[in-house]
Amino acid sequence: MLVDNHNRTINYLRLAVTDRCNLRCNYCMPAEGINFVKNDKLLTIEELKQLAEILVRQGIDKIRITGGEPFVRKDLMVLLRYLTTLDGLKDISVTTNATLIGPYIDELKALGIKDINVSLDAIDKTTFERITRRDQYDTVHENLIRLISEGFNVRINFIVLEGQNEQDIIPILKVMQHYPVSVRFLEEMPFNGGSKSFQKIKWDYKAILEHIAESFPKYKKLEAPSTSTSINYQIEGHQSTFGLIPSFSRTFCGSCNRLRVTAIGDVITCLYGSPKVNLRDIIRGAEGEKGVEAAILKAIGTRAKTGFEAQEEHASVFDSSMTSIGG
Ligand code: SAM
Ligand code: SF4
Repeated sequence: MLVDNHNRTINYLRLAVTDRCNLRCNYCMPAEGINFVKNDKLLTIEELKQLAEILVRQGIDKIRITGGEPFVRKDLMVLLRYLTTLDGLKDISVTTNATLIGPYIDELKALGIKDINVSLDAIDKTTFERITRRDQYDTVHENLIRLISEGFNVRINFIVLEGQNEQDIIPILKVMQHYPVSVRFLEEMPFNGGSKSFQKIKWDYKAILEHIAESFPKYKKLEAPSTSTSINYQIEGHQSTFGLIPSFSRTFCGSCNRLRVTAIGDVITCLYGSPKVNLRDIIRGAEGEKGVEAAILKAIGTRAKTGFEAQEEHASVFDSSMTSIGG
C-alpha cells in the first residue's frame, strides 16, 4: 500500500500517454500548441506497461488514462488490453475529447473499460468550436451519444470559462437530463501553456451552483466517496446528475488519493506542484524496476499537504499546460 507523509492512502494513478492533441482548447494551450516533446522522450508502450505493473504491485488499484489526447496514440489499445490483465487493478478509465474514440468503442466495451470522461465545454456548436479551435463538434457529439447508448458510464467534463461558455450551463443540463450521464462543471485552472494568467476566477463552484439553482431550485445532494473531487447533485425529474469540481478552490486536498505520471515519466504528486522525479530515466537506466519503486516511495513521502502549499514551492507552475501535466 502507498501512504503519503500526511497519512493519505494513494491508490489512484492518472497516467498520461502523450502530450499531443488534435484539438487546441484555449484554456489548455495556445493556438499554436506548445513545444511538444520529441518522440524519444515519451514513454513507450512497453515502459507504460512496466510502470503500471510496478505501481499496481505497490498498491494502485485505479488507473485513469489521460494526456494530451490518449487516442492520438495509435498503440493505445495495446496498453489498455494489458491493463485489463493486471491482478489488483480494479478500475480502468479514460479521459478523452471523444474525437477519435469511435473506432475503439466496441473493443473498449469488450474489454470491460466502461468509465469514460468526455470533455465537452459547450452544447452549442459555434461555442464549442471557438473554444477548441477545431471543427469537431459533430464527431464529438455522435461519439458521446454512442458511448451513452452502448451503456458506458459517461461523465462530461465542462470547464466554466468566464465570457465564453457560461450561457451553456443551463442548456447542457436541459439536453442531458434525458440521459444517464453526469455533467461535471470544473473550475478553470491557469494551466494553459502561458496564454492567460489569473489569480482568481468568477466561476468558482459556489457561483456555478447558485447559477444552476436559479433555473433548477429543486435539486438534492448525492452521497459521494470521501476521495471524490466532485460534489454531486441531482435535479428533480432529471435522469442525469451534475457535479461541481473545485479544481481551483482546492477544497478536496485533505482526502487526495492521486498520483500523476506524465507522458515523459515525470511523477507529479500535486497538480500545483513541480515534478518530483523522472521515472523514464530510471527505467531506462541501470537501476530499473527497483529504482522506480524507490523513487515512487520517496516522492509519496514528500507530498505537499495542499495544492496551495505545493504552489508556494513551484513559482513557475502556471506556465505549464494541462496537455503536458496530464489533466
Ligand atoms: N484530451 C483529453 C480531454 O480533453 O479530455 C484528456 C486530457 S485533458 C488535459 C484532461 C482534462 O483536463 C480535461 O477534462 C480538460 O477539460 C481538463 N483541463 C485542461 N485544461 C484545463 C484547465 N486550464 N483548467 C481546468 N481543467 C483543464
Ligand atoms: Fe486537447 Fe484535452 Fe487539452 Fe483540449 S483539454 S487541448 S482536448 S488535451
